Amino acid sequence: MLRFRIELDSCRQRRSLTKPTGLVYNKRQDAAKPIRLCTGPGLLWPRYPTEGCGKVFRRPKINPALFEQAIEHLRASRRTIVLTGAGLSTSSGIPDFRSNSSSLWSQVNPFEVASIWGFRDKPQRFYKWIQPLATTILNAQPNPAHLALAEMERKGFLHLLVTQNIDALHQRAGSQNIIEMHGHLRTISCIDCDYQTPAEPYYPQITQQGTVPRCPRCGGALKPDVVLFGEPLIEADILRAQEAALQSDLILVAGSSLEVLPVADLPALAVRSGSHLIIVNLGMTPYDHLADVCLHGDVVRILPRLVAAL
Ligand SMILES: [Zn+2]
Repeated sequence: MLRFRIELDSCRQRRSLTKPTGLVYNKRQDAAKPIRLCTGPGLLWPRYPTEGCGKVFRRPKINPALFEQAIEHLRASRRTIVLTGAGLSTSSGIPDFRSNSSSLWSQVNPFEVASIWGFRDKPQRFYKWIQPLATTILNAQPNPAHLALAEMERKGFLHLLVTQNIDALHQRAGSQNIIEMHGHLRTISCIDCDYQTPAEPYYPQITQQGTVPRCPRCGGALKPDVVLFGEPLIEADILRAQEAALQSDLILVAGSSLEVLPVADLPALAVRSGSHLIIVNLGMTPYDHLADVCLHGDVVRILPRLVAAL
């Protein structure tokens, strides 16, 4: 029988709480873990906890006890996946694509400029937009969070790193076993004939001129092998990540707001198969209530402390 305690915080839209039905909860949730949600009139559904008034009221403080819990889980796990997002690279100077304050999105409609249909329609507009971002990425350096995860892998506590980032800073920090779910800038491909070639010879053109690289075979526009809006992820990567999530003992989410599917579903997939979940992120995520430990803070500050304690 499901037993969990739900606390409603102060909320203008406080309403009667509807008990969730038809949901598969992890057994650990039987332990009356407090969940603070304003669910409004709808169901409390882990994937969409911001329904209702849109506020999630779970703000665990970072304290030594939480650190200790996280370290115990990391030490006990025999197979740990780490999932990283844009928050891991902001301290390296790479803006969060999804941040409202980011000029990357504030000046343009991302669904036009950074979509595959937008690229096919106006590749020059895409390259003008990505010019400063590509320059920033190619000049960025790994920060202490990247270095900590590389050290975690060397120590044997990290078995697979799944990242939503395209900046390759994990590799440069020394991480080995990585799935780059949203692609990378190492290769570039023709959208017309699928010709693929290393992107490095085109870096000066992309970062300095901002013009469209052309396919040497057919003259079509070359596109960096990053996943744009409207493009599917690589199926083999998705399957490998999902398989790893199902077989994991622990999934550590770092610097991701867990808002972009299907990557954001990996923690829920792992938890439903019995895995533990640790979330380290500056802000709250839709999956915080599933986590064994939430450490809300800067990954650059938290990850090195966690790894040093292993
Ligand atoms: Zn071509």
